[in-house]
Amino acid sequence: MERNYATQMDAARRGIVTPEMEAVAKKEYMDINKLMELVACGKVAIPANVNHKCLSPEGIGSMLRTKINVNLGVSRDCKDYDIEMQKVQSAVDLGADAIMDLSSHGDTSPFRRKLTSECPVMIGTVPVYDSVIHYQRDLDTLTAQDFLDVVRLHAEEGVDFVTLHCGITRKTIEQIKKHKRKMNIVSRGGSLVFAWMCMTGNENPFYEYYDEILEICREYDVTISLGDACRPGCLADATDVCQIEELVRLGELTKRAWERDVQVMVEGPGHVPMNQIAANMEVQKTICMGAPFYVLGPIVTDIAPGYDHITSAIGGAIAAMNGASFLCYVTPAEHLALPNVEDVKQGIIASRIAAHAADIAKGIPHAREIDDRMGDARRALDWEKQWECALDPETAKSIRDDRSPEHDDTCSMCGKFCAVRSMNKALSGEHIDIL
Ligand code: SF4
Repeated sequence: MERNYATQMDAARRGIVTPEMEAVAKKEYMDINKLMELVACGKVAIPANVNHKCLSPEGIGSMLRTKINVNLGVSRDCKDYDIEMQKVQSAVDLGADAIMDLSSHGDTSPFRRKLTSECPVMIGTVPVYDSVIHYQRDLDTLTAQDFLDVVRLHAEEGVDFVTLHCGITRKTIEQIKKHKRKMNIVSRGGSLVFAWMCMTGNENPFYEYYDEILEICREYDVTISLGDACRPGCLADATDVCQIEELVRLGELTKRAWERDVQVMVEGPGHVPMNQIAANMEVQKTICMGAPFYVLGPIVTDIAPGYDHITSAIGGAIAAMNGASFLCYVTPAEHLALPNVEDVKQGIIASRIAAHAADIAKGIPHAREIDDRMGDARRALDWEKQWECALDPETAKSIRDDRSPEHDDTCSMCGKFCAVRSMNKALSGEHIDIL
């Protein structure tokens, strides 16, 4: 049946309840009218391309559960799509809400179409990565139309959200040279757009032809994820002029998208000291009028390569508690290599911990119920119930089984000195045998 609305935002503004809104309201225990209000004003986005038929829709934004994204995809040095499909399966099994295909080698269409025809989670891409390999031509030979055509290709293939680095312009070139950042631009997409502007002398096509891009996104209901090309790549560059100047432009572009009923998310930092994260969230909320904030990390120290799933989980929890709605996971392989399947798992678990801890702190409905169930199971020393509540029951169970206790009701940490066991026995008037 032909739908009588262009985007979820268009529908919400016209009081039309879409199947996607109904699904999201149910998942989030939210009144449908409240959700429509948030979608209509842009504080919630429901990335749902009309061509992604098997999608299980999610909402991203204010008053909703914090969502997490998993990046994957092949590169020139690691081009095995079977391994990527293993990562996809792991991501879905471990509760990822979105997957971004960042493939940067070979013909990327078959994998992308496989994702949007078989995978129920939101699918995102960064079309500028694909532009170079799609045409198999060097960056400086690409035209603005070439970049737009790849955005349309990804939209046609069912991608729910696209990261577009529309926020840097030729003015940014002077900014970067003038402010001598310690790490300049670390965004892969941002650096490609910056390099293209430098080599061609032209304006950023994603900025210059923004209206054309909005029409493509409106046609397929693709959500624009406004990329932060100037996200800080080290603590020294955090919250600097380049980052904030770009954020101001992203706020303007958010307003223009909403005028065309196009849904928007705004991407955020990066490497940020813990004491600056809350302020970054507040500034974004004001400048971007409450548009959902999609942050990478933030990573709270630069000195933990191999453990950046932990540094980003710390920052992600603080960011989400202060308003970020969407966390891009970071794996132990960050800054080092393309993540393998185990890295992907560690990254997902770490960012899910950050998101969940923030949801409890934000008072998201029902968020803490599972923690209370875990508390009950632990008091009852009911290990099966504990696995049911665990984020990663497999790992938890294998640790206990690896060093199994003498007495089944305890664990080998304390054995018969188990405080829970003693208290349960004491409170029920039983004798407590320790030796
Ligand atoms: S043995 Fe110690 S660590 Fe294990 S359940 Fe009992 S109190 Fe907890």
